[in-house]
Formats: sequence, structure tokens, C-alpha cells
Amino acid sequence: MLDFSLSDEQKQLQELARKFAKEEIIPKAAHHDKTGEYPHEIAKKAWELGLMNTHVPQENGGLGLGVLEGCIITEEMAYGCTGICTAMEANSLASAPVIVAGNDEQKKEFLGLLTSEPKFAAYCVTEPGAGSDVSGIRTQAKKVGSDYVINGSKMWITNASVASWFFVLAYTDPTAKHKGMSGFLVPANTPGITVGKKEWNMGQRASDTRGITFDDVKIPEKYRLGREGDGFKIAMSAFDHTRPAVSSGAVGLARRAMDEAIQYSQSRKAFGQPIAHFQAVSFMIADMAKDIEAARLLVHKAAWTIDRGERNTKFAAFAKAFCADTAMRVATDAVQVFGGYGYSEEYPVEKLMRDAKIYQIYEGTSQIQRLIIAKEIFERG
Ligand SMILES: Cc1cc2nc3c(=O)[nH]c(=O)nc-3n(C[C@H](O)[C@H](O)[C@H](O)COP(=O)(O)OP(=O)(O)OC[C@H]3O[C@@H](n4cnc5c(N)ncnc54)[C@H](O)[C@@H]3O)c2cc1C
Repeated sequence: MLDFSLSDEQKQLQELARKFAKEEIIPKAAHHDKTGEYPHEIAKKAWELGLMNTHVPQENGGLGLGVLEGCIITEEMAYGCTGICTAMEANSLASAPVIVAGNDEQKKEFLGLLTSEPKFAAYCVTEPGAGSDVSGIRTQAKKVGSDYVINGSKMWITNASVASWFFVLAYTDPTAKHKGMSGFLVPANTPGITVGKKEWNMGQRASDTRGITFDDVKIPEKYRLGREGDGFKIAMSAFDHTRPAVSSGAVGLARRAMDEAIQYSQSRKAFGQPIAHFQAVSFMIADMAKDIEAARLLVHKAAWTIDRGERNTKFAAFAKAFCADTAMRVATDAVQVFGGYGYSEEYPVEKLMRDAKIYQIYEGTSQIQRLIIAKEIFERG
């Protein structure tokens, strides 16, 4: 049986998130974009309503909802502001390795921290010298007695300054390449951690992005996730859980850009008629609607597949590449529909265009998604 409809519970979540975006996010989005101020208050309210950490299992204080439910919420929040949405979503990325590979104690301690209070976590893989090529990281964790001592630098870490703990990928055996990496859970107050300045990015400025330096940071062995050498696998399989939701954020942004374009095209007149009457404009909007629908279907397929316990790597990469490219194109076309006003900070679409770009970069660039898709096709059929 094939059924595209949402359940009553999913519709309620969608409604709750839509109302939250309308009342709490949209009115404050421009302020956070201009100031770069972290949206603490908004995140606290979202946390109180149960709109954050929905994927955390019930035994760890979460709602234990599926990836699909997370995507439904994310699309609505992103409609409000993807910068604010990313600030909240980064918890899902940081906690995905714990959900994938954590033991009961680790889940209780680290996921419990996120659900008992409105706290944050960060996923630390990228470094100044290595992003797409994860094997190029240089951070090392050396075993000293029953501890590990971590040294290295991470870059572009979302939530770096607000996180209470980090997932950190480091080499325990640099000679073994991908099989020499291990994943660690590192409390943010451990001595030796220095968080850098906030990066002033092109878009999504409500989100906090920084470098982090680890200088002889000592953590107990019990904070290693899985076995030594499992780190790369853990860090990458986390994306199967999070890419559907990130893609969903791109859908929310695209939908917002389309709605703005529809509204403007009906009120703006040129040559004696609303610009929506010109086929060149209405076809741009028709393409937006068609691609947004396709993008959402890819998101739901990727989420549905992993929620059934099946491998979704290819579908998650389909969704991430298609939704990111769709968001960028739709936001760019929305600016076009607005003409000169689209280029102005006084109107909402220039922010959407700036915000959209990052979807083609973080959580694996659009090129890397195609690399994953090709690998899945040629190696797995
Ligand atoms: C705002 C923001 C937030 C971020 N948040 C986090 C976070 O929380 N945690 C984290 O760990 N990282 C984070 N990142 C890092 C992000 O995931 C990386 O920037 C991204 O993976 C790309 O890596 P890079 O910047 O090193 O680019 P590079 O890997 O140097 O890539 C440069 C260009 O080369 C292309 N390229 C590279 N290799 C190939 C290839 N084999 N085939 C084809 N093209 C290729 C890329 O697609 C890209 O166009 C964030 C980045 C930003 C900007």
C-alpha cells in the first residue's frame, strides 16, 4: 500500500511547528540575521514545547519520534528562519553518533543532558585543512593509561560556543586512514578546550559557527564511542539520520521563498498588469512549486526508509543534493521575481538567498552527495 497522507499525530506536530514559526521565529528572524545574536529564548521555548530533540529515545527523556516526524517539524521551523532552525538542529547532528553507537551509559549521560535542560551539543569533524576529505583530519587522540589525550583543531563547528558537549572525531591510529579514526564524547568544560570567535557568515547568521582547539584535552576511555577505529563509520552513518532533516530545512526555505514570490507577483504591476500575468514570471513560480513537491517527496522517502530500519544512504544523498540545489534555485528566482526590491535588505528574499547557499555546503557538499550516489550505484547497485 502506498499512502502519502500524514497521520493525525504528524499533522498535529506540523501544526504546532507552523504556529511556532509564525509566532516566535518569523517576527525575530531579521533581528537575529542582522545582529548574529544566538536565539537562546526561541530555542528554550521550542525545547519546552517538545520541538527539539524529538529523535532522542524515550528512555533518555526524549519523545522517541522518527526521522520523518523530525523532518515535518524542521520544514516548518525552516520556513520561519533557517539560521534559527540550524541552531536548534545542530543538536540532532551531535547526538546522532550517540544514537548510532552509544552504549546505555553514554546515552543516559549525553542525551539525558539535552532532554533534562534546554542545552546544546556540537558535532566536530571538519578541520581547517579538511572537510570533504575526512581522512585528511589531523586531530589525534592518544591513549595514556585509561585516558585519551586529544590534540588538534576543528573548524566551522555549529553551536561551538553554546554546546555543553562535543562529538569529536580524531585519529587513534593515523597510519590506518579511515580505519584509524575514533569518535569521542567530550564535555565542553574539559580543560584545554578553546572556542574561537564567531564566524560572520554569508547567511544563517543566527547560527553560531566557530573553530575549536583541543590542547591536551584529557577524557576517560568510557567517553569513546564504539571501538577504536569505528569513528569514521559512526561519523558518516550519523548523516543517514540527519541529512533528511537538513534537506527538509531546505524545503522549508524554498517554500517560504515561493510564497513570498507568489504574493509579490500578484501585487506588483508592470505594463498595466500584475507581473504574475507574465508567463515568464508565472512559469518561474510553477517550476518552484514542482521542484518543492519533488524535494519534499525525496525527504519523506529518505526518512521513511531509515525509520523502517533500512539503509537509506542513497536516498538521504538524493534528498540532500536535490533539496539544497532546489532551495538555492528557488531563492535566486524569488529575488528575480522581486526585481530591484529583491536585492534590498528591506525585503525578505535576499536573506533567503544568502541562507540557502549553505545547504549546498554543510553536511556534505552537493558534489560529495553526487559522489555518494555514484558510489552507492556502482558498488551496491
Ligand atoms: C556554516 C557552516 C556550518 C558548519 N557546521 C559544521 C559542523 O557543525 N560540524 C562539522 O564538522 N562541520 C561543519 N561545517 C563544515 C562543512 O561540513 C564543510 O565546510 C563541508 O563539508 C566542506 O568542506 P570544506 O569546507 O573543507 O571544503 P572542501 O572539502 O575543501 O571542498 C571545496 C570544494 O571542492 C569540492 N570537492 C572536494 N572534494 C571533492 C571531490 N572528491 N569531488 C568533487 N568535488 C570535491 C567541494 O564540493 C567544494 O566545492 C560547517 C560549515 C559551514 C560553512
